[in-house]
Amino acid sequence: MISKIEKLSNILNESYNEKSLVISLRDFFAKNFGSDNFYFEINERNLHVDYSQTSKFKYPLYKHKKNIGYLCFADKNEELESFLKLAAPFISLKVQNIILSEKMQKNINFHETMKYIAKIIETQYELSYVIPIIGEMIDKFFEDYLLYIFLKEENAGVNYLAWPMACKDTNILGIIDEFNERVFTDDRMTLALPLKSEGKDVGILVAKSTNEPITAKDDDYLTQLASQIATTINRANVYAEILKHATLDALTGFYNRRQLEERIKQEVSNAKRQHAPLCGIMTDIDFFKGVNDTYGHAVGDLVLKTIAKVIRGQLREYDIAGRYGGEEFSILLPFTKIEEARMVAERLRKSIEEKVIDISKVNPESEVKEISVTLSLGIYEMKEDDNDEDLLKKADKALYEAKNTGRNKVVVA
Ligand code: GH3
Ligand code: MG
Ligand code: MG
Repeated sequence: MISKIEKLSNILNESYNEKSLVISLRDFFAKNFGSDNFYFEINERNLHVDYSQTSKFKYPLYKHKKNIGYLCFADKNEELESFLKLAAPFISLKVQNIILSEKMQKNINFHETMKYIAKIIETQYELSYVIPIIGEMIDKFFEDYLLYIFLKEENAGVNYLAWPMACKDTNILGIIDEFNERVFTDDRMTLALPLKSEGKDVGILVAKSTNEPITAKDDDYLTQLASQIATTINRANVYAEILKHATLDALTGFYNRRQLEERIKQEVSNAKRQHAPLCGIMTDIDFFKGVNDTYGHAVGDLVLKTIAKVIRGQLREYDIAGRYGGEEFSILLPFTKIEEARMVAERLRKSIEEKVIDISKVNPESEVKEISVTLSLGIYEMKEDDNDEDLLKKADKALYEAKNTGRNKVVVA
């Protein structure tokens, strides 16, 4: 008996999750007591329960006198029973520990997921980009659920599936059609939650369990998640609405990306029609990440603003400047040949290099009061058979070369 207790104690020490515990115990009971088909039945959740078996012998497990589940065997035998009288409390403790550590891990994962979704809001606004990221995150977190995100089509008022690609579940589609508030199906296998933010319905989150009924705890997780997802979607919608009306970038006063693309189309077609030369310049600040990291984002923003001002000051009235991306500016020079464009770019490069930026107001704590940065530039003159996209694409290639061959320089494509 003592040696069996010892063996059991080793198994309990070595098992690190429910699966390894069940497998080791099954083997242990078979070898030492001839008891086949061991499995757990745990009230709170199922520790590898096989409902297809009918066990003739169940031995209870307790936690502070409260029954938490059973050890189940195909048959009863006396030796096994007297062993369990001694051993069951140890097994019970192990089971409790496993459940507890799984819960804690799940909580940690959940908060990671929530944090990540919150983080997306700060940096990304495009719904087509945001939804798949959220979808993949929640799928990973709720492995046992099928999750669906439906978005409300603003004008028609209907909800359409945004994640994943398809939903063939007629039960769910029925719920979506008539949805107006939280739905928990009678079997507790499907939960549909409204995605609501600032009083606005933006869509529906549906979770369908693939094995066990949805627990109260998971209901809670899903509800919190729905609220976070709704906030993200709402922000993206609001931002898209604002973008529709804006043409200028708020920080620099340059054309924003969308407007820049419109202007490129116009200029390319003008140049073609008039057989006039047109040049494009792409610029990127050198080691700009370092500026943010060393002096803070507010200083980074000040640098962007300052550079935009310097660029504007160097251009003719009909030249066009746009903010292509974060710290990348694009310039269109109509009626300009490449030799002239090169001179413009070189002048720009030089005046940025010489520009001293006073950062003391924006970052009073910094010991360094003045900084300067450099700019890399790529230029390209449009050819007859180029399309709208070629202009900046080819200028960008030249910029890439400028970066790779030392920075703070102008390269002609
Ligand atoms: P490289 O010389 O290769 O260009 O180095 P880099 O550090 O400039 O690298 P990269 O061009 O990839 O860096 C882009 C950085 O620009 C990342 C981000 O911190 C910063 N950035 C982008 N948009 C903004 C913005 O609106 N404000 C601020 N402060 N920083 C921005
Ligand atoms: Mg860049
Ligand atoms: Mg850069």
